[in-house]
Amino acid sequence: MARGRGGRTTDGHGAAKAREAMVARLRAGGITDRRVLAAMGEVPRERFLRPELAGEAYGDHPLDIGRGQTISSPWIVAFSVAALQQPPSARVLEIGTGSGYAAAVLARCVGEVVTVERDPELAERARGLLAELAPNAEVRTGDGTRGAADRAPFDGIVVTALASGAIPPDLVDQLAPGGTIVCPVGDHRVGTLVRRRDGRTEHLADVSFVPLVPGSADR
Ligand code: SAH
Repeated sequence: MARGRGGRTTDGHGAAKAREAMVARLRAGGITDRRVLAAMGEVPRERFLRPELAGEAYGDHPLDIGRGQTISSPWIVAFSVAALQQPPSARVLEIGTGSGYAAAVLARCVGEVVTVERDPELAERARGLLAELAPNAEVRTGDGTRGAADRAPFDGIVVTALASGAIPPDLVDQLAPGGTIVCPVGDHRVGTLVRRRDGRTEHLADVSFVPLVPGSADR
């Protein structure tokens, strides 16, 4: 049965209802970008979670994805992707693939996505899901603080883990002229989501994220 209330869902129909309710909450929460709202209304968030958490998929909160990491709340995914303000043809780099959900949303809004995950196990799982759900997204395993130099420049770069102190300089270097970076910056899981464009930095929102950990995972 469909049980849209509170984001709980038990089957495909319930998931569609719950997605609709989530999109309505995103609108009420100030998300206006039509492509982002359409993408959020289409990507099956429950597929990016362990089966026992699927019933929670559309609630307004982050959820555990194993390996000590979390899938960001629907609002923060929608807000971050909208903040990039990219045209449909854009090439975007995401740092912190995690479950792959944000990459799947992004891939419906832009032309091409490259996403980098430090944890090989998470990268592998996301690669399988995105091959099916977002073929224009490429998952790379490695240290995202170094970006993806061989694919640069990017029109947009979105970081989904908290950078300590500042946006990693390699990411700034890999941005196309006029490009936009959206990145949470702070310490101890709390900070500010900042947007950098044309050398200027704007503070967008107070946020909480898991840390961006420099270096490769298999040292
Ligand atoms: N966008 C994700 C949520 C990301 S959680 C989603 O939609 O599910 C943050 C992710 O950043 C975690 O999976 C973590 O392993 C990853 N991460 C942390 N440091 C990293 C680094 N240096 N390079 C790449 N990924 C990193």
